[in-house]
Amino acid sequence: MSLHESVRQFCSEIGKDPLIVQGAGGNVSWKENDILWIKASGTWLADAGDKDIFVPVQLDHLTKALKNGDYAVVPQTATSTPLKPSIETLLHALMPHRIVVHVHAIEVLAHLVRKDFDHTNYPALDKSLNSRTVKYCKPGAELAEAVANQLDGTTSTRVVFLRNHGVIIGGDSIEELSKTLHHLTHFFATPAVSAQISTPDTSLRLANGAEFNPIGLAKLHEVAITPSLVDRLTDNWALYPDHVVFLGPHPRLFESLEEAKSSLEQEAELPDVIFVRGLGTFARETMNKAKIAQLICYYDVMTKLNDGAQLSTLTNMQISELIDWDAEKYRRGLNDEK
Ligand SMILES: [Zn+2]
Repeated sequence: MSLHESVRQFCSEIGKDPLIVQGAGGNVSWKENDILWIKASGTWLADAGDKDIFVPVQLDHLTKALKNGDYAVVPQTATSTPLKPSIETLLHALMPHRIVVHVHAIEVLAHLVRKDFDHTNYPALDKSLNSRTVKYCKPGAELAEAVANQLDGTTSTRVVFLRNHGVIIGGDSIEELSKTLHHLTHFFATPAVSAQISTPDTSLRLANGAEFNPIGLAKLHEVAITPSLVDRLTDNWALYPDHVVFLGPHPRLFESLEEAKSSLEQEAELPDVIFVRGLGTFARETMNKAKIAQLICYYDVMTKLNDGAQLSTLTNMQISELIDWDAEKYRRGLNDEK
């Protein structure tokens, strides 16, 4: 099997596992001579088996720019294509490994959002990975520079933890990468605590015809019903970039359907999803697959934290630089049809 084929197979496998990849999140690359093949922005790893989701970009051009400290370099595609290389292309160019995987794996993410996360707090972690930890930075140039500062130009560092974001893994083969990913997801695994919740049998209809219906996946109602999860909604909503990009800067939590109705009747731009305390989670038809995938991700992360876990939440400044970013508007737009 060619490297391209085995990468595609690997991507479609991890892309279908919601504990590893959520919607349009995560990206994979491989290097072949002067080309870096990278997932296109807005595409889904899960589609790797059926669609062409990879874009070839000029590797030399990127490596030279990065060596000169130019983290604002714009990747150049090697063929004409309507697809844009991933926002996180520079991370892949920086890692010297043949294959690089970047994911927001739930088991790891549930630790990366904790206050003061650092891999050195986990002495039993496989030392041969020569891991590094990078503080939260806006994806793109800023994050690339922070990661570059942790690398020594060799392939010895095989794992970079990105606080409030995800993990980068480098390797020489798919087998090696799978092994590392498996080690990390098992090492950080925490049993989820969930409750039996029944789906509410009521909907909210506004005067303008907009409807909020109970979300189809029963467990997502827990977010609005289980008291500790409702507390997390108000205190720890903005924990990592994709959540904010797809679900917005703040949660819309209401005390009752009546309160939701009177408040939303006044609004010109309605949210996709609302939470009604003690009752459940309600969504409009604008709640597409990519947004649902992010809400499931949030649920999965939250149910893996014990009640006392202190988290690090993105600041208002960090939130607004994600929301106003054209590169993210493009990626979100591509997923509106999903
Ligand atoms: Zn990411």
